[in-house]
Amino acid sequence: MGKVTGFLEYERQNQGHRPIRERIKDYGEFTLPPDPDTLKIQAARCMDCGVPFCHAGLLTEGQSIGCPLGNLIPESNDFIYKGDIESACRRYRETHPFPEFTGRVCPALCEGSCTLGEHRDPVAVRAIERYIADESGRLFAPKAPEKRTGKRIAVIGSGPSGLAAADLLNKLGNEVTVFERADRAGGILTYGIPNMKLDKSVVAARIDFMDKEGVVFKTGADIGGTAAIELLKNFDAVILCIGSRNERALNVTGKDLKGVHTALNYLTTATKVLLSKDRGDGGAAAPIPADMNAAGKDVVIVGGGDTGTDCAATAIRQGCKSVTQIEIMPSLPDRRAKNNPWPLWPRVKKTDYGQEEAIELFGADPRRYLTTVKEVIGKDGAVAGVKTVEIEWKNENGRMVPKEKAGTENRLPAGLVLTAMGFTGPETGLIRDLGIETDARGMIKTQEGSYLTNLHRVYAAGDARRGPSLVVWAILEGRKAALECHKALRIALTSES
Ligand SMILES: Cc1cc2nc3c(=O)[nH]c(=O)nc-3n(C[C@H](O)[C@H](O)[C@H](O)COP(=O)(O)OP(=O)(O)OC[C@H]3O[C@@H](n4cnc5c(N)ncnc54)[C@H](O)[C@@H]3O)c2cc1C
Ligand code: SF4
Repeated sequence: MGKVTGFLEYERQNQGHRPIRERIKDYGEFTLPPDPDTLKIQAARCMDCGVPFCHAGLLTEGQSIGCPLGNLIPESNDFIYKGDIESACRRYRETHPFPEFTGRVCPALCEGSCTLGEHRDPVAVRAIERYIADESGRLFAPKAPEKRTGKRIAVIGSGPSGLAAADLLNKLGNEVTVFERADRAGGILTYGIPNMKLDKSVVAARIDFMDKEGVVFKTGADIGGTAAIELLKNFDAVILCIGSRNERALNVTGKDLKGVHTALNYLTTATKVLLSKDRGDGGAAAPIPADMNAAGKDVVIVGGGDTGTDCAATAIRQGCKSVTQIEIMPSLPDRRAKNNPWPLWPRVKKTDYGQEEAIELFGADPRRYLTTVKEVIGKDGAVAGVKTVEIEWKNENGRMVPKEKAGTENRLPAGLVLTAMGFTGPETGLIRDLGIETDARGMIKTQEGSYLTNLHRVYAAGDARRGPSLVVWAILEGRKAALECHKALRIALTSES
């Protein structure tokens, strides 16, 4: 433990953010780079708990406690306080292949369960993680495995679960090829999470690192039909990391009007346009399609969650006139409810970067709770507004159902409507073509306590198996599926020889 009295002496200092009026003029990351001196003091606040809940990685009644990856947080904090950056980086590398992603985008389950957080502000673990990630980038060069097993593994999908699976399988000596439908690897890390949260150069640098270590990436490869069957024949094992990308639909009149888009489509297009500017060949940047450009428009986002926040922040950078988020659920409380005690993840209201920006620009929180969209109003085939209504949740035969409140209908002007209501499961094409079984929720079914599907040597990991979740869980799933697959192939190899 670095400093015994650190937690008594020092207050938590949150990671710095760029001033709102400055940052909304570009798509650069809104967080400021870590300051080593500040982080040393922040690491000194760690109490090196006997039972460090920060890295417990437990699930209780569907709620998580601590980091699922089991990062050795107290030890890393100690090294950071003592100025031994290399040892801190080495500790992280034991459990976590991509701290540069979670150091930027993770909601920090570790901080939610930090013991210090029971009475004071938790240790700033995420900021320390980002610092460790940046330093690791400087300290460690790509290193291909010295020995190869001779086994060939196909990973389908290059989001965090696919990357994590590929990384570990390659490190264990297998020959790994990642097949990705999009033109760039990274899944939602690349096309989904906006650049201001996670700069795309950070994702590209990791892909390049893995490429140099021997992982083969094939982008523009939409696997399905005969291509999928061929993969099964040509590889010793296949890991499905295809995400949960079916977006929940807005089933109201006017949903097909011009100017109504899903969040993932909108965010992907915004990033593609941004990256087309940075490609460095002097060519013209791709324009934002007119019916997707928020410039000068009133923007209504259906969904008050994190994806909705990313849409709000993107619309603000495109120069929208106003932004409103419609949320069917009530606001979370400002403090933990009695049934949500520490060390569970605190289910409390959070005002994220997109909302902070809307408040600064337009003077009010963009979220309207307990409200839903009844109709999208059109004019000349394009969206012109939305009809909303307030709702209340009523218990009907033991199930909570939303009921409209009479006399609360309202009209909002809208030139762009974005649906960010969550995801219902993986796309069905590849699953159907291969004959993969799904569970009652529509996610890929695997055997109890395993990542193996109903097909021999076909595994699944990430959102496609677990359901829509977080980057950190996708990474864990990818690693666990990889390990199980590797062990099965080793056993087969031993019995063959
Ligand atoms: C807008 C948005 C913002 C988010 N922000 C955060 C955040 O800040 N923090 C956080 O922790 N989590 C966040 N999440 C959740 C997180 O991104 C996901 O949980 C995570 O990306 C899931 O990883 P995955 O690898 O399972 O799937 P994905 O990241 O969805 O990757 C799946 C990949 O598979 C590819 N694919 C699918 N089918 C095929 C096929 N047939 N052939 C070839 N390729 C295929 C897809 O193109 C995609 O690239 C966010 C989600 C969204 C939508
Ligand atoms: S729970 Fe908090 S104070 Fe305790 S070891 Fe983990 S980071 Fe340090």
